[in-house]
Amino acid sequence: MISIIGAGPVGCYAAALLADDFEVKVFEEHSQVGLPVQCTGIVTPDIFKFVPKNNDFIINRISDVRIFSPDNKHIKLKFKNPDLILDRAKFDNYFYDLARKKGVEFYFQHRFVSANKRYALVKDLKSGKTRKFKHDFLVGADGARSAVAKNYNFNNKKKFFIGIQAVVKMKNINTVDYFPFKHGFGWAVPVDKNTLRVGVASKKNPRAIFENLLKKYKGKIVSKQGGLIPVFSPFAQIRKDNVFLIGDAAGFVKATTGGGLVPGLKSARVLAHTIINNFMYESSIGVKIYPSLWMHLEMSKLMDSFSRQDWNNLIEELNNEDSKKSLQKINRDRLFKLLLSLGFRNPRLIGFGLKHFDALF
Ligand SMILES: Cc1cc2nc3c(=O)[nH]c(=O)nc-3n(C[C@H](O)[C@H](O)[C@H](O)COP(=O)(O)OP(=O)(O)OC[C@H]3O[C@@H](n4cnc5c(N)ncnc54)[C@H](O)[C@@H]3O)c2cc1C
Repeated sequence: MISIIGAGPVGCYAAALLADDFEVKVFEEHSQVGLPVQCTGIVTPDIFKFVPKNNDFIINRISDVRIFSPDNKHIKLKFKNPDLILDRAKFDNYFYDLARKKGVEFYFQHRFVSANKRYALVKDLKSGKTRKFKHDFLVGADGARSAVAKNYNFNNKKKFFIGIQAVVKMKNINTVDYFPFKHGFGWAVPVDKNTLRVGVASKKNPRAIFENLLKKYKGKIVSKQGGLIPVFSPFAQIRKDNVFLIGDAAGFVKATTGGGLVPGLKSARVLAHTIINNFMYESSIGVKIYPSLWMHLEMSKLMDSFSRQDWNNLIEELNNEDSKKSLQKINRDRLFKLLLSLGFRNPRLIGFGLKHFDALF
């Protein structure tokens, strides 16, 4: 018997994968899957490792990206494999349907309260009654503020980006704009020809930076969302006995872009494989997920050490055909390869990297 807390995409996917071998129950505090949406929904084609190419939730494909420096210069890139834009509510429901069809039992408006080794206490928000559910394994897929992690005193001093986003009605040229800065990054991502998702994820002053970014995109704001984005830590605990954390609850998010969907779904797959085959969760995650997330983390530390002038210089340095060729060949998830290939192609960038070498350690 497995209890999963949280019916986000990661919890639902884990439930679907485990359902052939176990009786699985999922507890979700909201009344439905996928809402409220707190996400930009941009993913790389790596998402096709988890979903079919033929689906109804990919609503846009974008090859063109502009990376802006603080003095508003930018480099323009055309990725060979376009980034994909999701309808997040439909995307989440795809994983919900997958789990439901495999016989997973869902309890909506049920909030996890606490647990011991064998039982979880879950509050039925409709009746106000707290119910007791037995489990052999408990999985925390309950997002950035994981109550499961808190209940079990996981030794995780989590740090967060604060994410703020607006949906803006505005004609656009179907290009992703990315604004890296000290302690965070901003974006404008087209949903369609007339709609952008404009946002900021920052460890400091997110509101002020967001308001400033919005000045560049002066359309009609139709909605605003916000949420926490955990900063990955390779030292965070992700398992205690029969209790496991996956997705945002475990902090599996790329620190340079805030992308948590691909690593979260990967962690669901690793979890299912390790529980079914009685493998060690931590070591499997260590092999399959840590190298890429660690590289994003080190890159974000490097980015934190840049001054405004460094950003201006870097964008200028990268703005040549050789660097662009390297950048365009690979997708955003392959950051490590991307930087290595850049370093080899542009010796001046190696010098730039060396100046900031200390930030990596
Ligand atoms: C502004 C913003 C923009 C983002 N943009 C992107 C992007 O473009 N691309 C990308 O890949 N990622 C993005 N992310 C990150 C992405 O949204 C997350 O990584 C992803 O949602 C993680 O999925 P999850 O299933 O682990 O957690 P969640 O989607 O957070 O799901 C957790 C579920 O648990 C439920 N829950 C929580 N506590 C309890 C409880 N006590 N009891 C019962 N249920 C509970 C919640 O209601 C929720 O349904 C963004 C995040 C933010 C905040």
